[in-house]
Amino acid sequence: MVERILKLSKGNTEMPEILILEKEIIHSNNPRYMFLYTYYFPNQNLNDISKAILRTNDKRYINFFFIQIHHIDLDIFFLKILEYDNQTIFYTLYDRKNLDDIFFIKGISRMLENGEDKYLYLIFYYYFLVLNRFHEDIFHLLLKLENTLNEKNYKQYLVNLRHSIREEPRYYDYYSPNKYHGHHGCIPDMIVCHISFDYGKMIKNFYTNTLEVSSHFAISESGDYTQFVSLEDSAWANGTSLNDSSDVYYKFAKNNIVRNRKINANYYTYSIENESIDGSLTKKQYQTTLKLMCEIIDYVEHTYHINFKIDEEHIVGHQDINPLVRTSCPGTKFPLKSLIFDLNKIYKRI
Ligand SMILES: [Zn+2]
Repeated sequence: MVERILKLSKGNTEMPEILILEKEIIHSNNPRYMFLYTYYFPNQNLNDISKAILRTNDKRYINFFFIQIHHIDLDIFFLKILEYDNQTIFYTLYDRKNLDDIFFIKGISRMLENGEDKYLYLIFYYYFLVLNRFHEDIFHLLLKLENTLNEKNYKQYLVNLRHSIREEPRYYDYYSPNKYHGHHGCIPDMIVCHISFDYGKMIKNFYTNTLEVSSHFAISESGDYTQFVSLEDSAWANGTSLNDSSDVYYKFAKNNIVRNRKINANYYTYSIENESIDGSLTKKQYQTTLKLMCEIIDYVEHTYHINFKIDEEHIVGHQDINPLVRTSCPGTKFPLKSLIFDLNKIYKRI
């Protein structure tokens, strides 16, 4: 079915054929096919399929629907989201951009009822300090957490709150066990940029072998960095699967190179994580990112005797590779274009 959806989405498919596909998918009761159908046919009428996916009660794909499909009835879907846990509500409010205040009001109210946890702290921080928005009702919700706050001290309170849920960075003098040895015969020719909320947590996770995640580098807000995987090896940051039952199926990639390479993208990519919520980098982070990108480019050029291509096909964001599962990595404010521009200047390619 996935191949059929992909194939039909490419050609000038006639309307009747699309409607037959839609009927079959609704009949299948498979929330994943329903999501993929609307993702690849965004201009269809979504009434029937919306009802069908809500009936499945499948948290993962209802969440994907809300975040990624443009013309859905947001109010109806959000009511469903509100039945879920704080983590799901947080990521829904975070991943779907430009939501009106009313969604934050409803979402945060429900999160407060569900109980205090780090996602509740993060959503206040995200709303007031990252999005830099203000609404009287949301401020009143914040007062339920701490009733001594006023308009002068609440920002500092939120900064402290975020600090309180951070992991203290721990340093190791060896590389992470989470990696593949070598590059599986590939010449690595891409750099993938990521963001993550917490530098200390990244270090902890990237050394935890049961989590099976890592990156070549992670950079903190202050511009410090840790290397987890040698440039000779492949990190586990943005893998693609050859199996179409996976949500990181390589043919889902937005990037042409990845979509045409029938091999796990981890083998031919280097990954750099930055500590950030919306993709914006501090000056020091930007400089460290640039320095590490140069280190990677120099290494590839010296080791494989090729010219590393410095362009938007080769220096990319995580969402270009795994768009279904990573809509906010590396975030709307990530300075990908200016990094590519500066690298081209450094290597005198322009
Ligand atoms: Zn990522």
